[in-house]
Amino acid sequence: MAKLPIPYKIYLSEEEIPKQWYNLNAAMKTKHAPFLNPATLQPCSADDLKPVFCDDCVGQEMNMSDLYIDIPEDIRSFYKMYRPSPLVRAYCLEKVLDTPAEIYYKFEGNNTSGSHKLNSAAAQAYYAKKQGLKSVTTETGAGQWGTALSMACSYYGLDLIVYMVKVSSEQKPYRKEVMRTYGAQVIPSPSDTTEAGRKILKEFPGTGGSLGCAISEAVEKAVTSDSCRYVLGSVLDHVLLHQSVIGLESKAALDKYGVEVDTVIGCVGGGSNFGGLIAPFMGDKIAGKNDIEFIGVEPASCPSLTRGKFVYDFCDSAKITPLAKMYTLGCGFMPAPNHAGGLRYHGMSPIVSELYHQGLMRAVAVEQSKVFEAAEMFARIEGILPAPESSHAIRVAIDEAIKCRETGKKKKILFGLTGTGYFDMAAYKQYNDGTMTDYIPTDADLAKGFASIPDIPQNK
Ligand SMILES: *Cc1c(COP(=O)(O)O)cnc(C)c1O
Repeated sequence: MAKLPIPYKIYLSEEEIPKQWYNLNAAMKTKHAPFLNPATLQPCSADDLKPVFCDDCVGQEMNMSDLYIDIPEDIRSFYKMYRPSPLVRAYCLEKVLDTPAEIYYKFEGNNTSGSHKLNSAAAQAYYAKKQGLKSVTTETGAGQWGTALSMACSYYGLDLIVYMVKVSSEQKPYRKEVMRTYGAQVIPSPSDTTEAGRKILKEFPGTGGSLGCAISEAVEKAVTSDSCRYVLGSVLDHVLLHQSVIGLESKAALDKYGVEVDTVIGCVGGGSNFGGLIAPFMGDKIAGKNDIEFIGVEPASCPSLTRGKFVYDFCDSAKITPLAKMYTLGCGFMPAPNHAGGLRYHGMSPIVSELYHQGLMRAVAVEQSKVFEAAEMFARIEGILPAPESSHAIRVAIDEAIKCRETGKKKKILFGLTGTGYFDMAAYKQYNDGTMTDYIPTDADLAKGFASIPDIPQNK
């Protein structure tokens, strides 16, 4: 059969939205280490997790055996509002780079929240509603997750409290208004509404807050309120599961044109978009069906994979969450104040951490000025104004394509374009003004974060 020419955008039909998610846990021969209850240091049982997360999500979190998990029809209906998302052949970028490589990107910014986070927000809000809960809480840093969850909660009729990192809520007042428009209550964190917040305010009165602190507040609020649970936008296995729609749709679109990619690239914050994008491709790699190179890209100023330790650590800075075995900079780590490019979480998804530990993927750390250089180039050539987070993946995709120009290799590169950057114009302004600086933490800086890692027998 003659090969069809590949269009700029490969769209799927509504019918082709996946009917099942792909559970990478089931595909992995060696599973990641279990979460530990910090009080007993024993593996968390479902009963340990159910006061915090909704029941169906706990079930998915613990599921190590079902490779495919059905997507409820109600969630598919929500997905139909903004999915399938386009898979784009970056013909314009290829031309400017004068590369023999083929570059593809999966664009997840085509919804009001502006990022892939809606894929899991939709699922988690649905399961909370199904369980009969009245409300959920969460934290948000840059604001994409809070926005996505606001949209999902308004669709399913749930109340939502968002603890937003204080500096972000000041820098991004319009993000806050989007969330409020969708009915969420937004509280700058640290706040005086929780024990954890009050404690941090007392210790560091002028603090602008951190993601870890906001998580602590949101978890505390959920477990001390009636008919309320906490939802998390990244890191956990069930979030990666929901994000597998990205990878499944990408694969279905590429399969239509018989494209077999050589390299898959994604940015890594907590690891959810990357874990979702690579899921079916990685499953095939583990089964010996391909030899794809997977690259996770992180900021040089928050280098959890490339410079972190693979140990048990808390998921939040107040040390109230379960312990996860992951690559971490220490739950007390905070990136330097000049860091503007997102992806500032101290740890990494246990699944992604385990894949990295097993050598099934590699990681690259990039400096933010290089990231924004790539962002600007991409905006001008491909037309989409990318989120700074996504631009980490763009940077490395461009670098890989340039290597192909130099070596003559005709690699097929797929990367995840996780979102748009309209709410990140303060960071773009720094770049445009020439005031953006890079700071790579010294070993002494990192040592301070490592000191916050719990001293438990499992970490010896
Ligand atoms: C949140 C976010 C990320 C990083 O989160 P992951 O869980 O690592 O995917 C990347 N890109 C965008 C646009 C985001 O909003």
